[in-house]
Amino acid sequence: MNTPLLEIRDLHVWFDLERGGRVHALRGLDLDLAAGEGLGLVGESGCGKTTAILAMMGLLPPSATVSGEVRIAGKGILAGGEAGMRPHRWTDIAMVFQGAMNAFSPVATIGEQIAEPMRIHRIADGKAAFRRAQELLELVGIHPDRADRYPHQFSGGMRQRAAIAMALACEPKVLLADEPTTALDVIVQAQVLDLLDRLRRELGLAVVLVTHDLPVVGYVCGRAAVMYAGRVVESGPIDELTASPGHPYTRALFAAAPDIDEAGTGASIPGMPPRLDEEWCGCSFAPRCGQAEALCRTEAPVPVTLDSGRTSECHLIGELR
Ligand code: SF4
Repeated sequence: MNTPLLEIRDLHVWFDLERGGRVHALRGLDLDLAAGEGLGLVGESGCGKTTAILAMMGLLPPSATVSGEVRIAGKGILAGGEAGMRPHRWTDIAMVFQGAMNAFSPVATIGEQIAEPMRIHRIADGKAAFRRAQELLELVGIHPDRADRYPHQFSGGMRQRAAIAMALACEPKVLLADEPTTALDVIVQAQVLDLLDRLRRELGLAVVLVTHDLPVVGYVCGRAAVMYAGRVVESGPIDELTASPGHPYTRALFAAAPDIDEAGTGASIPGMPPRLDEEWCGCSFAPRCGQAEALCRTEAPVPVTLDSGRTSECHLIGELR
C-alpha cells in the first residue's frame, strides 16, 4: 500500500451507562488508508462501525471515553480534546451522516448551508462561499441554480448528493460515509455510489464507507474490514474476501447477504453478538461459530497477516482457507 494518509492505532471507545458500568464498544481498531483508497467497514448492527467513525470525527457524546490514535498525514488529531480536534474536523476529515433527510435545516437554503462551514473555517466568505457552494453542487451533479432552493424542494437522492457536497466544502483529505445509501431506491443508490467512487478517484480522497450491505462495498472500495464485537476480525482486498471468505464470521456475513439472482434473503447467522458491557474469554464469535474448538473458548485469537495483505483473527484460519 502507498504511504498511509489515515492511520488509526489501537482505538478504543467506552460508554458510561446511567445504571453504572461501561460498554466497551470499540476494542482496539487499527487501520491504514492511503489517498485515493476506499475501505468498507462492514458488520452487523452494534459491531462498532458507526462508533469508530464518530470517534475519528471527535463527535461522540460526553459519556464516551476514547483512547488510541487517529493520524492524518502523520498528524495526531485526537490528542488535544475538542479544542485540538476543531481545526481538523471538516478540513482534514469530514463525514456524510446517515439519513440525508435530517442533514439539513429546513429553514435555510441548501447553498447557504453548504457555504456555512467555509465561512466558519474562514476558507471563503460572503458571496465567494456561496459561489463555491454552487460549484460543489455542480461537482455532485446538481445544477448550481438549485443552491437557492430549500431542502424540501430536493428529492431524497439530491439531498444525499448535497450532503456529500457539504462534506466536501472545506476540501477534506478523508471522507467518512455512514450508510450513505440507506432509504434510497436501488437506482439512486447506484448513482450515489458512483458519485462517491468518482470523487475518491478525482479528488484523491481516502474514503471510509460504513455499511451492513456487502455488495455496496465493491462499488467504492478496494478493501473491506469486517467488524465483530468492536474489533476487525478480517480485512483484505474486497475481491479476495468475496471470492474466498476465510474467517467464519465473514463467511456467515456473506452467506446472510441477499442474493439478487435468487428469491428471498440469505441465511441468518444463529445466536447473538456478545454483550459489550461484559468481558469474555477466548474468541468473541465462539458461541456462534460452527468451527469452534476448545482453544477458541479460552484464548483470544490474534491478527494473522496472510498473503495479499489479508489479515484474519481466527485460530483456524490456516485450515479454513
Ligand atoms: Fe471460530 Fe475459533 Fe475462528 Fe473464533 S477462533 S472464528 S471460534 S474457529
